[in-house]
Amino acid sequence: MQILKFGGSSVASATNIEQACTIIKNAIKVDKTIVVASAIGGCTNQLIEIGNLSANRNKGYVDLLDQLISRHEEVVALLGLSELNPLQTLMQELSEVCQGVFLLQELSLRTLDLIMSYGELLSTTILSHYLLHLGVPNVWIDSRQVVRTDHQYGNAIVDLEVTNRQIAKKLIDSPSRLYIIPGFIASNDLGITTTLGRGGSDYTASLLAVCAKARVLEIWSDVSGMMTADPRVVPQARPIPHISYKEALELSHFGARVVYPPTIQPVVSHNIPIKIKNTFAPNDPGTLIERNPPESNSKLRGLSSSGHIALLSMEGSGMVGIPGYSARLFGALASEKINIILITQASSVHTMCVAIDEESTARAKKAIDDTFAYEISLQKVEPLRVETGFSIISLVGDDLQQQSGTGGRMFEALGRRGINIRAIAQGSSEKNISTVVNTTDEGDALRAIHEAFF
Ligand code: ASP
Ligand code: MG
Repeated sequence: MQILKFGGSSVASATNIEQACTIIKNAIKVDKTIVVASAIGGCTNQLIEIGNLSANRNKGYVDLLDQLISRHEEVVALLGLSELNPLQTLMQELSEVCQGVFLLQELSLRTLDLIMSYGELLSTTILSHYLLHLGVPNVWIDSRQVVRTDHQYGNAIVDLEVTNRQIAKKLIDSPSRLYIIPGFIASNDLGITTTLGRGGSDYTASLLAVCAKARVLEIWSDVSGMMTADPRVVPQARPIPHISYKEALELSHFGARVVYPPTIQPVVSHNIPIKIKNTFAPNDPGTLIERNPPESNSKLRGLSSSGHIALLSMEGSGMVGIPGYSARLFGALASEKINIILITQASSVHTMCVAIDEESTARAKKAIDDTFAYEISLQKVEPLRVETGFSIISLVGDDLQQQSGTGGRMFEALGRRGINIRAIAQGSSEKNISTVVNTTDEGDALRAIHEAFF
């Protein structure tokens, strides 16, 4: 068994769906296949807008809904599937639900889940019928009959045990070489539609890979795999053929979310490899993510970056040698649910610096200054210093510890271009060396480091 997941852009038009179907036809020659698909690109956002407009008694929802329906009808017509009855039924239902919201002027998360579910229901119904039209037998499975969740509408948690059982039964009850399943949507024990959170189709695919004991999970999108850096910033960036799960997670932590960590957790824990492929360049090798990738001559995999970083610095002679300051600092941030992105502390313990998301700076400053109000009044520590406008750049690779001089080469590359480094951290897992630079230097810094290593 193999799982092929197609993202929104892979089903965004008739031409794209044709491409996806060519890929599917080739795939089923190799193995039994479950195809998971997203809604057609942009559709989920539109559905949310339609829901909000209806709830606000804004008649504009009708136009938007018409647009959405025409977009699907156009795709269906171009694929030569005119008058596709199941599609008409779905659109009719969707219109009725939206009218209901309009009349009630109320949109609960539960109803929004129902509205959003039509995106994936429509796209996969089209996909399944087009494959039949091409003479490719397949079974469409309603994910709501197999993926079981709790009642947290908008972001439901999957019950793995029930899902496992239901998927196994479904695959036995309706034997087929090819199954088509909507991503993102599920249902709870009352049979009410739920969703797995935005971008949840990858998660559906990952879950099904585990439940169906798949040999591989292929994620088909519009990029030719993970790259050594963001190609929009670093033109010399190239695809990474092999990468470990851990490196892939480090690389996606900052920067392009080719794989989103919680999404792939199920396959990682079951050791199922993930292949990232490009629907629009299917012959490109893509990236294979697995536990133990083959040795390559470079231990370095890639560069990632993210902006909108603030640095918080705490300084004071009163901090020297007294345990507990860091715990209190972290505690203050935790109580505000602020995520710490990077930490540095000089061994003198005279200063301590943490990086957080810029949008949390005001809350962070208040929480920390409140926590240390007593020490600040005694001038043992200074009020927290907050600076914004930074980016974090990370160099990622397993076994960085076995490469001496990596940090040196990285800082030298930055120094040569006159780029000021504001903070440095190296994970003790040594899969990543991160530096903080001014966001205005981010592009230059990425290009300089890329040139030095790749
Ligand atoms: N259609 C859903 C979304 O846009 C799920 C997905 O695309 O993965 O969030
Ligand atoms: Mg998507």
